[in-house]
Amino acid sequence: MTGPAAARLALLLTLGALLLAPLWLPPYHHYVLTLILLNVITVVGLALVMGFTGLVSLGHAGFVAIGAYATVLLTRAGLSYWMALPAGVLLSGCIGYLIGLPALRLQPLYLATVTWGFGQSVWLIALNWVSLTNGQNGLKMAAPALAGRPLAPEDLYWPVLAVAVGGLLAAYRVTKTRPGRALMALRESEVAAMTLGVSARAYKTLAFALSAIYAGSAGGLYVGVVRYINPDNFPFHVSLLYVTMAVVGGMGSLAGAVVGATMLTGLPELLRGFVEYRELIGGVLLLAFLVFVPHGLVGIFGPRIRASHRVPMPPQAAGVPAPSGPVASGDGRSPGPGTAARAEWLRITEVTKTFGGVVALDQVSLVVAPHTIHGLIGPNGSGKTTLFNVVTRLEEPDGGAITLGEHDLLSCPADRLAALGIARTFQNLEVFPRLTVLENVLVGMHARLPVTMTSAVLGTPASRRAEAEARAEALRWLAFVGFQGDPAVPVGTLPFARQRAIELARALAVRPRLLLLDEPSAGLTFGEVEELARVIRRIRDELGTTVILVAHTMRLVFGLCETVTVLDHGIKIAEGSPLEVRRHPEVIRAYLGPSELPATASGGAT
Ligand code: ADP
Ligand code: MG
Repeated sequence: MTGPAAARLALLLTLGALLLAPLWLPPYHHYVLTLILLNVITVVGLALVMGFTGLVSLGHAGFVAIGAYATVLLTRAGLSYWMALPAGVLLSGCIGYLIGLPALRLQPLYLATVTWGFGQSVWLIALNWVSLTNGQNGLKMAAPALAGRPLAPEDLYWPVLAVAVGGLLAAYRVTKTRPGRALMALRESEVAAMTLGVSARAYKTLAFALSAIYAGSAGGLYVGVVRYINPDNFPFHVSLLYVTMAVVGGMGSLAGAVVGATMLTGLPELLRGFVEYRELIGGVLLLAFLVFVPHGLVGIFGPRIRASHRVPMPPQAAGVPAPSGPVASGDGRSPGPGTAARAEWLRITEVTKTFGGVVALDQVSLVVAPHTIHGLIGPNGSGKTTLFNVVTRLEEPDGGAITLGEHDLLSCPADRLAALGIARTFQNLEVFPRLTVLENVLVGMHARLPVTMTSAVLGTPASRRAEAEARAEALRWLAFVGFQGDPAVPVGTLPFARQRAIELARALAVRPRLLLLDEPSAGLTFGEVEELARVIRRIRDELGTTVILVAHTMRLVFGLCETVTVLDHGIKIAEGSPLEVRRHPEVIRAYLGPSELPATASGGAT
């Protein structure tokens, strides 16, 4: 039996056992199973925020408490349990969204503090707002009823099971599609994710809201089972326990969330004698796992799991040379929709950028013609990367104007540029190391892939089709840059030159009309530079993309570029054809040195 088939069988058997659990489990164990499923719901939600997005939350018990208290209070106000529960979940989601807002600006440690404070505040409110919550004495809730008949506590097992399974399925779909990739991309490199069109603001708050919806559901369902709450249900160490469950199972993995929640709920409950030591056991486990098993229990089996999810290479991409026609013709269109029609000039006008006393760019003006390769050279520290950062909106210039065709780029936020058809690579390589090769390239399609959080959760046919087409296109981009290997391995495990190629494929997946390449040849061997030159030429000739190329490899620049601009100390000192620039006395003095002179022009040296 193949890996995926075995996994599917195991999943079906587990589901069958869960469905039949009331028949074969003694009542107490059945109750423990219900608690396990409730914690699975919360910890899967926590994994979305912590594991996938990389934002620490030390206050998830607060969201559980909000779901629980809201459900109880609304039923006491006369609503049926089945109306109160979704309302409580919604409230928890809204508060999650608000808690996610500071996540946009705060360093991880401060964010952890904010979430901790949030959890404490909920607890203090539950304890002290006596007129609402009855304080320490807690609140009772009437048994939820179905068709006028009150349900026994064990009947709530079914909705709990349904939400746990549905929640897991939804989380699985999210993490395997566009929204989940966006979350992981933010975790790996926020800057790169933004340049590919991922809105950090939208996705971080969305992650928190979604996570709070999970926790709120667990809280609302929990009171359906026990019909009573008080503040003691949600002290700080419960939040820590959730974190421990996520860490022990393996952060960044849904299976890890399930394993962690199951172990840490099940074991102490079944070994009742240890109950007083639960916090101690939890704390020691957390520390031990963070130090010795950083990828959690699931991580120990990780390689095997990953291998079983390997993406099959379609025949046209499996190791064969790149297609000679337009690369993205699979959807019946030319690579960039209407590339020729979008032939627009990039105009950089008197742009200045200073860092404290350093003038990185001094009134630099530059015009780049469509469908050309424009070289940008100059000594280290002359402002080339800063110019890229200003154009891609990662740095705010002190003055000047930048337009691409009709578009005023300075009025666009960084995460809107991918949609305009602007993509870049980074001098210091900004791949998403823990994402697979294929996922890296897929993030490049973020801005134009019609898969929303909702359509991903629902797994709509349209979203599945869009994802399947995106995968096929991503493989074509990988073939275009000459990547021949397994697209299912994490990029961080590959050699440097391969990572460079994948970063380029990811930028091409934007289908850019303007592509900025920041020292793509740095660190490559002679042969690899030759291959890169071929690829860059094809980007201009076959895709019609305008390229700005920063490189110190003069062979590459003078061999490829129509026009070359030379910067020195933030000042444009020369511009022209490769031949003109090579002869320019200022350029020879500041950068090239006499050795780069063509033999016929050696008399021009000063
Ligand atoms: P290049 O890419 O041509 O090597 P850079 O654009 O990286 O040059 O740097 C230009 C100048 O601006 C350098 O003096 C550099 O130290 C300075 N600089 C660039 N980025 C920053 C920054 N974020 N903070 C302070 N100084 C910076
Ligand atoms: Mg640089």
